[in-house]
Amino acid sequence: MKIEFYRHNINNQDIRSVNKAMREIFLSTGKRVDGFEKNFAKYLNCQNAVGVTCCTGAMHLSLEAFGVGPGDEVITTPLTFVATSNAIIHSGAKPVFVDVEPATGNIDANLIERAITSKTKAILPVHLYGQMVDMKKIRRIADKHKLKVIEDAAHCVEGQRDGVRPAQLSDAACFSFYATKNITCGEGGAIALNDAEMAKTLKKMRLQGLEQSAYERYDKKFSSSDMTVDGWKYNMNNLQAALLTGQLARIEKLWQRKDKIARKYEKAFTGIPGIGFPKTLPQIKHARHLFTLWVAPEKRTLIREELQKRGIPTVINYWPAVHLMSFYRKKYGYKPGDFPVAEAISERTITLPLYPKLENKEIDFIVTNVLDVVKKLL
Ligand SMILES: *Cc1c(COP(=O)(O)O)cnc(C)c1O
Repeated sequence: MKIEFYRHNINNQDIRSVNKAMREIFLSTGKRVDGFEKNFAKYLNCQNAVGVTCCTGAMHLSLEAFGVGPGDEVITTPLTFVATSNAIIHSGAKPVFVDVEPATGNIDANLIERAITSKTKAILPVHLYGQMVDMKKIRRIADKHKLKVIEDAAHCVEGQRDGVRPAQLSDAACFSFYATKNITCGEGGAIALNDAEMAKTLKKMRLQGLEQSAYERYDKKFSSSDMTVDGWKYNMNNLQAALLTGQLARIEKLWQRKDKIARKYEKAFTGIPGIGFPKTLPQIKHARHLFTLWVAPEKRTLIREELQKRGIPTVINYWPAVHLMSFYRKKYGYKPGDFPVAEAISERTITLPLYPKLENKEIDFIVTNVLDVVKKLL
Protein backbone atom coordinates (compact mmCIF):
# COMPACT_ATOMS: atom_id res chain seq x y z
CA MET A 1 0.00 0.00 0.00
CA LYS A 2 1.20 3.53 -0.78
CA ILE A 3 -0.39 6.29 1.31
CA GLU A 4 -0.45 9.94 0.24
CA PHE A 5 0.50 12.41 2.97
CA TYR A 6 -2.37 14.69 1.96
CA ARG A 7 -5.23 14.73 -0.54
CA HIS A 8 -7.47 17.78 -0.93
CA ASN A 9 -11.28 17.75 -1.09
CA ILE A 10 -11.95 19.74 -4.24
CA ASN A 11 -14.92 18.11 -5.98
CA ASN A 12 -16.69 18.50 -9.34
CA GLN A 13 -19.02 21.15 -7.95
CA ASP A 14 -16.02 23.27 -6.88
CA ILE A 15 -14.43 22.82 -10.30
CA ARG A 16 -17.69 23.85 -12.00
CA SER A 17 -17.85 26.98 -9.89
CA VAL A 18 -14.26 27.97 -10.86
CA ASN A 19 -15.14 27.20 -14.49
CA LYS A 20 -18.06 29.60 -14.23
CA ALA A 21 -15.93 32.23 -12.50
CA MET A 22 -13.40 32.06 -15.34
CA ARG A 23 -16.10 33.06 -17.85
CA GLU A 24 -16.93 36.22 -15.91
CA ILE A 25 -15.48 39.66 -16.50
CA PHE A 26 -13.66 39.99 -13.15
CA LEU A 27 -10.98 37.43 -12.38
CA SER A 28 -9.47 39.44 -9.54
CA THR A 29 -11.20 40.69 -6.37
CA GLY A 30 -14.94 40.97 -6.95
CA LYS A 31 -18.35 39.76 -5.89
CA ARG A 32 -17.24 36.17 -5.42
CA VAL A 33 -14.69 37.37 -2.85
CA ASP A 34 -17.43 39.45 -1.18
CA GLY A 35 -19.61 36.35 -1.08
CA PHE A 36 -16.92 34.13 0.40
CA GLU A 37 -16.13 36.74 3.04
CA LYS A 38 -19.78 36.89 4.09
CA ASN A 39 -20.02 33.10 4.34
CA PHE A 40 -16.73 32.80 6.19
CA ALA A 41 -17.73 35.42 8.78
CA LYS A 42 -21.10 33.70 9.15
CA TYR A 43 -19.45 30.31 9.70
CA LEU A 44 -17.17 31.75 12.39
CA ASN A 45 -20.04 33.72 13.91
CA CYS A 46 -18.11 36.96 13.65
CA GLN A 47 -18.92 40.22 11.88
CA ASN A 48 -16.27 40.73 9.22
CA ALA A 49 -13.88 38.77 7.04
CA VAL A 50 -11.27 40.02 4.59
CA GLY A 51 -9.98 37.67 1.87
CA VAL A 52 -6.24 37.78 1.22
CA THR A 53 -3.58 35.76 -0.61
CA CYS A 54 -2.09 33.96 2.39
CA CYS A 55 -2.08 33.74 6.18
CA THR A 56 1.39 35.29 6.32
CA GLY A 57 -0.05 38.36 4.57
CA ALA A 58 -3.12 38.25 6.83
CA MET A 59 -0.90 38.45 9.93
CA HIS A 60 1.37 41.10 8.40
CA LEU A 61 -1.60 43.31 7.45
CA SER A 62 -3.27 42.84 10.85
CA LEU A 63 -0.10 43.83 12.73
CA GLU A 64 0.32 46.89 10.47
CA ALA A 65 -3.34 47.85 10.79
CA PHE A 66 -3.11 47.80 14.59
CA GLY A 67 -0.03 50.02 14.50
CA VAL A 68 2.69 47.47 15.26
CA GLY A 69 6.00 48.61 13.76
CA PRO A 70 9.75 49.14 14.21
CA GLY A 71 10.86 49.29 17.85
CA ASP A 72 7.87 47.20 19.01
CA GLU A 73 7.86 43.66 20.34
CA VAL A 74 5.29 40.94 19.63
CA ILE A 75 5.02 37.84 21.82
CA THR A 76 4.59 34.51 20.06
CA THR A 77 5.48 30.80 20.21
CA PRO A 78 8.67 29.19 18.90
CA LEU A 79 6.77 25.95 18.09
CA THR A 80 5.12 27.02 14.84
CA PHE A 81 5.72 27.46 11.15
CA VAL A 82 8.21 30.29 10.48
CA ALA A 83 5.42 32.30 8.81
CA THR A 84 4.10 33.35 12.24
CA SER A 85 7.23 35.15 13.36
CA ASN A 86 8.21 36.18 9.82
CA ALA A 87 5.00 38.23 9.69
CA ILE A 88 6.16 40.03 12.84
CA ILE A 89 9.49 40.77 11.15
CA HIS A 90 7.62 42.04 8.04
CA SER A 91 5.91 44.62 10.26
CA GLY A 92 9.32 45.81 11.50
CA ALA A 93 8.72 44.56 15.06
CA LYS A 94 10.76 42.00 17.00
CA PRO A 95 9.38 38.51 17.69
CA VAL A 96 9.72 37.62 21.37
CA PHE A 97 9.21 33.92 22.04
CA VAL A 98 7.59 32.31 25.06
CA ASP A 99 7.87 28.58 25.79
CA VAL A 100 4.99 26.14 25.29
CA GLU A 101 2.89 23.79 27.45
CA PRO A 102 4.29 20.25 27.66
CA ALA A 103 0.86 18.65 27.25
CA THR A 104 -0.35 20.48 24.14
CA GLY A 105 2.58 22.32 22.55
CA ASN A 106 0.56 25.54 22.65
CA ILE A 107 2.07 28.78 23.97
CA ASP A 108 2.09 28.68 27.78
CA ALA A 109 -0.20 31.56 28.76
CA ASN A 110 1.27 31.49 32.28
CA LEU A 111 4.66 32.56 30.89
CA ILE A 112 3.40 35.46 28.78
CA GLU A 113 3.35 38.19 31.45
CA ARG A 114 7.02 37.88 32.35
CA ALA A 115 7.93 38.41 28.67
CA ILE A 116 6.01 41.70 28.47
CA THR A 117 8.16 44.86 28.35
CA SER A 118 7.40 48.54 27.70
CA LYS A 119 7.93 47.77 23.98
CA THR A 120 5.37 44.94 23.78
CA LYS A 121 2.45 45.82 21.49
CA ALA A 122 0.75 42.53 20.72
CA ILE A 123 0.43 38.82 21.41
CA LEU A 124 0.29 36.47 18.42
CA PRO A 125 -0.74 33.00 19.65
CA VAL A 126 -0.98 29.95 17.35
CA HIS A 127 -3.70 27.30 17.74
CA LEU A 128 -1.22 24.50 17.25
CA TYR A 129 -2.41 21.56 15.12
CA GLY A 130 -6.00 22.84 15.56
CA GLN A 131 -6.28 22.93 19.36
CA MET A 132 -7.10 26.43 20.57
CA VAL A 133 -4.97 28.24 23.12
CA ASP A 134 -6.62 29.66 26.24
CA MET A 135 -8.01 32.82 24.61
CA LYS A 136 -9.84 33.94 27.75
CA LYS A 137 -6.59 34.03 29.71
CA ILE A 138 -4.67 35.67 26.87
CA ARG A 139 -7.36 38.33 26.43
CA ARG A 140 -7.21 39.12 30.17
CA ILE A 141 -3.43 39.55 30.02
CA ALA A 142 -3.71 41.68 26.88
CA ASP A 143 -6.35 43.95 28.43
CA LYS A 144 -4.31 44.40 31.60
CA HIS A 145 -1.26 45.52 29.57
CA LYS A 146 -3.20 47.22 26.73
CA LEU A 147 -1.97 44.85 24.04
CA LYS A 148 -3.55 43.67 20.79
CA VAL A 149 -4.20 39.96 20.23
CA ILE A 150 -3.88 38.57 16.73
CA GLU A 151 -4.53 34.84 16.32
CA ASP A 152 -2.61 32.62 13.94
CA ALA A 153 -5.60 30.37 13.24
CA ALA A 154 -4.02 28.72 10.19
CA HIS A 155 -4.81 25.30 11.73
CA CYS A 156 -8.08 26.21 13.32
CA VAL A 157 -11.06 27.12 11.16
CA GLU A 158 -13.34 24.64 12.96
CA GLY A 159 -11.95 24.78 16.51
CA GLN A 160 -13.47 26.00 19.77
CA ARG A 161 -12.44 26.24 23.42
CA ASP A 162 -14.90 26.85 26.25
CA GLY A 163 -17.36 27.80 23.50
CA VAL A 164 -14.96 30.48 22.21
CA ARG A 165 -14.05 30.43 18.54
CA PRO A 166 -11.30 32.19 16.63
CA ALA A 167 -11.91 35.97 16.19
CA GLN A 168 -14.31 36.17 19.16
CA LEU A 169 -11.86 37.37 21.81
CA SER A 170 -8.99 38.64 19.66
CA ASP A 171 -8.59 41.81 17.62
CA ALA A 172 -8.18 39.71 14.47
CA ALA A 173 -7.82 36.03 13.57
CA CYS A 174 -5.75 34.98 10.54
CA PHE A 175 -6.41 31.91 8.40
CA SER A 176 -4.59 30.03 5.65
CA PHE A 177 -6.05 28.29 2.60
CA TYR A 178 -2.67 26.89 1.54
CA ALA A 179 -2.62 23.57 -0.35
CA THR A 180 -2.62 21.30 2.74
CA LYS A 181 -4.88 23.35 5.02
CA ASN A 182 -8.40 22.43 6.17
CA ILE A 183 -10.03 24.16 3.20
CA THR A 184 -7.82 25.20 0.33
CA CYS A 185 -7.47 27.14 -2.90
CA GLY A 186 -3.76 26.31 -3.35
CA GLU A 187 -2.71 29.62 -1.82
CA GLY A 188 -5.04 31.92 0.08
CA GLY A 189 -5.96 33.42 3.43
CA ALA A 190 -8.42 35.51 5.39
CA ILE A 191 -8.66 37.86 8.35
CA ALA A 192 -11.72 37.56 10.60
CA LEU A 193 -12.67 40.28 13.07
CA ASN A 194 -15.49 42.18 14.76
CA ASP A 195 -14.77 45.73 13.69
CA ALA A 196 -16.38 47.05 10.52
CA GLU A 197 -14.12 50.13 10.33
CA MET A 198 -10.97 48.06 10.69
CA ALA A 199 -12.25 45.58 8.09
CA LYS A 200 -12.68 48.50 5.69
CA THR A 201 -9.12 49.65 6.38
CA LEU A 202 -7.78 46.11 5.90
CA LYS A 203 -9.58 45.91 2.54
CA LYS A 204 -7.70 49.02 1.43
CA MET A 205 -4.42 47.79 2.88
CA ARG A 206 -4.64 44.47 1.02
CA LEU A 207 -4.79 46.40 -2.30
CA GLN A 208 -2.11 49.10 -2.36
CA GLY A 209 -3.97 51.34 0.11
CA LEU A 210 -6.42 52.35 -2.60
CA GLU A 211 -9.90 53.59 -1.74
CA GLN A 212 -11.61 51.41 -4.36
CA SER A 213 -10.75 48.23 -6.27
CA ALA A 214 -11.29 47.93 -10.04
CA TYR A 215 -14.49 46.02 -9.34
CA GLU A 216 -15.84 48.76 -7.11
CA ARG A 217 -15.05 51.35 -9.80
CA TYR A 218 -16.63 49.31 -12.60
CA ASP A 219 -19.99 51.08 -12.70
CA LYS A 220 -18.51 54.52 -12.14
CA LYS A 221 -17.27 55.70 -15.52
CA PHE A 222 -13.65 56.91 -15.66
CA SER A 223 -13.29 57.17 -11.91
CA SER A 224 -9.80 56.77 -10.48
CA SER A 225 -8.88 55.77 -6.98
CA ASP A 226 -6.98 57.69 -4.34
CA MET A 227 -4.43 56.02 -2.07
CA THR A 228 -5.20 56.93 1.52
CA VAL A 229 -3.32 54.38 3.66
CA ASP A 230 -0.09 52.39 3.44
CA GLY A 231 -0.89 49.29 1.39
CA TRP A 232 0.43 45.99 0.06
CA LYS A 233 -0.69 43.47 -2.55
CA TYR A 234 -2.51 40.73 -0.71
CA ASN A 235 -6.00 40.75 -2.27
CA MET A 236 -7.84 37.44 -2.74
CA ASN A 237 -9.20 36.87 -6.27
CA ASN A 238 -12.53 35.54 -7.54
CA LEU A 239 -11.08 32.18 -8.66
CA GLN A 240 -9.79 31.50 -5.14
CA ALA A 241 -13.17 32.48 -3.69
CA ALA A 242 -15.01 30.26 -6.19
CA LEU A 243 -12.89 27.29 -5.13
CA LEU A 244 -13.35 27.92 -1.41
CA THR A 245 -17.09 28.60 -1.22
CA GLY A 246 -18.22 24.99 -1.69
CA GLN A 247 -15.56 23.60 0.63
CA LEU A 248 -16.68 26.01 3.33
CA ALA A 249 -20.25 24.78 2.97
CA ARG A 250 -19.02 21.19 3.55
CA ILE A 251 -16.52 22.02 6.30
CA GLU A 252 -18.36 20.46 9.25
CA LYS A 253 -18.83 17.19 7.38
CA LEU A 254 -15.15 17.15 6.46
CA TRP A 255 -14.27 17.93 10.07
CA GLN A 256 -16.36 15.03 11.38
CA ARG A 257 -14.36 12.58 9.29
CA LYS A 258 -11.03 14.07 10.44
CA ASP A 259 -12.19 13.92 14.05
CA LYS A 260 -13.10 10.26 13.66
CA ILE A 261 -9.69 9.43 12.19
CA ALA A 262 -7.83 11.39 14.91
CA ARG A 263 -9.83 9.57 17.60
CA LYS A 264 -8.87 6.25 16.04
CA TYR A 265 -5.21 7.26 16.19
CA GLU A 266 -5.54 8.43 19.81
CA LYS A 267 -7.17 5.18 20.82
CA ALA A 268 -4.58 3.04 19.02
CA PHE A 269 -1.57 4.90 20.43
CA THR A 270 -2.73 5.37 24.03
CA GLY A 271 -0.50 3.58 26.55
CA ILE A 272 1.96 2.26 23.94
CA PRO A 273 5.59 2.27 25.18
CA GLY A 274 7.72 4.68 23.15
CA ILE A 275 4.75 6.67 21.81
CA GLY A 276 3.20 9.87 23.11
CA PHE A 277 1.03 12.55 21.54
CA PRO A 278 -0.39 15.96 22.44
CA LYS A 279 -3.30 15.90 24.84
CA THR A 280 -6.67 17.14 23.63
CA LEU A 281 -8.07 19.12 26.58
CA PRO A 282 -11.65 18.36 27.66
CA GLN A 283 -13.11 21.80 26.88
CA ILE A 284 -11.82 21.67 23.30
CA LYS A 285 -13.36 21.15 19.90
CA HIS A 286 -10.13 20.23 18.12
CA ALA A 287 -10.01 21.40 14.50
CA ARG A 288 -7.96 18.24 13.72
CA HIS A 289 -5.62 19.85 11.25
CA LEU A 290 -2.57 17.73 12.14
CA PHE A 291 -2.09 14.53 14.14
CA THR A 292 1.34 14.24 15.68
CA LEU A 293 3.15 11.52 17.62
CA TRP A 294 6.05 11.95 20.02
CA VAL A 295 8.89 9.42 19.86
CA ALA A 296 12.45 9.23 21.23
CA PRO A 297 14.50 11.95 19.47
CA GLU A 298 17.36 9.56 18.63
CA LYS A 299 14.91 7.12 16.99
CA ARG A 300 12.86 9.63 15.03
CA THR A 301 14.76 9.51 11.73
CA LEU A 302 14.93 5.70 11.80
CA ILE A 303 11.20 5.48 12.45
CA ARG A 304 10.39 7.89 9.62
CA GLU A 305 12.71 6.07 7.20
CA GLU A 306 11.16 2.71 8.03
CA LEU A 307 7.61 4.08 7.66
CA GLN A 308 8.58 5.67 4.34
CA LYS A 309 9.89 2.29 3.12
CA ARG A 310 6.54 0.76 4.02
CA GLY A 311 4.66 3.40 2.00
CA ILE A 312 3.75 5.77 4.84
CA PRO A 313 5.00 9.33 4.38
CA THR A 314 5.37 11.57 7.44
CA VAL A 315 6.41 15.17 7.98
CA ILE A 316 7.67 17.17 10.97
CA ASN A 317 5.76 20.11 12.43
CA TYR A 318 8.05 21.78 13.46
CA TRP A 319 11.82 21.37 13.52
CA PRO A 320 13.96 23.19 14.24
CA ALA A 321 11.91 25.37 16.57
CA VAL A 322 11.74 28.85 15.02
CA HIS A 323 14.22 30.47 17.46
CA LEU A 324 16.83 27.90 16.38
CA MET A 325 16.56 28.69 12.67
CA SER A 326 19.89 30.22 11.52
CA PHE A 327 18.34 33.58 10.68
CA TYR A 328 16.77 33.96 14.14
CA ARG A 329 19.91 32.81 15.96
CA LYS A 330 22.06 35.30 14.07
CA LYS A 331 19.66 38.24 14.20
CA TYR A 332 18.41 37.90 17.78
CA GLY A 333 21.01 35.69 19.51
CA TYR A 334 18.59 32.87 20.39
CA LYS A 335 20.31 29.55 21.28
CA PRO A 336 19.50 25.94 22.22
CA GLY A 337 18.06 25.72 25.72
CA ASP A 338 16.19 29.05 25.50
CA PHE A 339 12.77 27.32 25.20
CA PRO A 340 13.33 23.77 26.45
CA VAL A 341 9.75 22.51 26.18
CA ALA A 342 9.33 23.67 22.58
CA GLU A 343 12.73 22.19 21.72
CA ALA A 344 11.87 18.84 23.34
CA ILE A 345 8.59 18.55 21.40
CA SER A 346 10.27 19.74 18.21
CA GLU A 347 12.87 16.95 18.47
CA ARG A 348 10.29 14.24 19.12
CA THR A 349 7.40 15.05 16.86
CA ILE A 350 6.23 13.16 13.75
CA THR A 351 3.10 14.05 11.78
CA LEU A 352 0.95 11.23 10.38
CA PRO A 353 -1.42 11.56 7.41
CA LEU A 354 -4.80 13.00 8.47
CA TYR A 355 -7.41 14.09 5.94
CA PRO A 356 -11.06 13.23 5.18
CA LYS A 357 -10.24 11.09 2.14
CA LEU A 358 -8.03 8.74 4.17
CA GLU A 359 -9.76 5.36 3.95
CA ASN A 360 -10.36 2.99 6.85
CA LYS A 361 -8.02 0.37 5.42
CA GLU A 362 -5.32 3.04 5.04
CA ILE A 363 -5.79 4.13 8.67
CA ASP A 364 -5.49 0.50 9.83
CA PHE A 365 -2.37 0.10 7.69
CA ILE A 366 -0.79 3.22 9.22
CA VAL A 367 -1.64 2.19 12.80
CA THR A 368 -0.37 -1.38 12.36
CA ASN A 369 2.90 -0.24 10.84
CA VAL A 370 3.55 2.57 13.34
CA LEU A 371 3.04 0.14 16.23
CA ASP A 372 5.29 -2.45 14.57
CA VAL A 373 8.10 -0.03 13.66
CA VAL A 374 8.18 1.65 17.08
CA LYS A 375 8.21 -1.74 18.84
CA LYS A 376 11.07 -3.02 16.65
CA LEU A 377 13.16 0.10 17.23
CA LEU A 378 12.44 0.46 20.96
C1 LIG B 1 0.42 27.39 6.92
C2 LIG B 1 0.72 28.21 8.10
C3 LIG B 1 0.93 29.58 8.01
C4 LIG B 1 1.13 30.29 6.71
O1 LIG B 1 0.07 30.24 5.87
P1 LIG B 1 0.23 30.82 4.38
O2 LIG B 1 -1.17 30.89 3.89
O3 LIG B 1 1.08 29.83 3.63
O4 LIG B 1 0.89 32.14 4.49
C5 LIG B 1 1.05 30.31 9.16
N1 LIG B 1 1.02 29.72 10.37
C6 LIG B 1 0.87 28.40 10.51
C7 LIG B 1 0.82 27.82 11.89
C8 LIG B 1 0.73 27.59 9.38
O5 LIG B 1 0.62 26.27 9.51
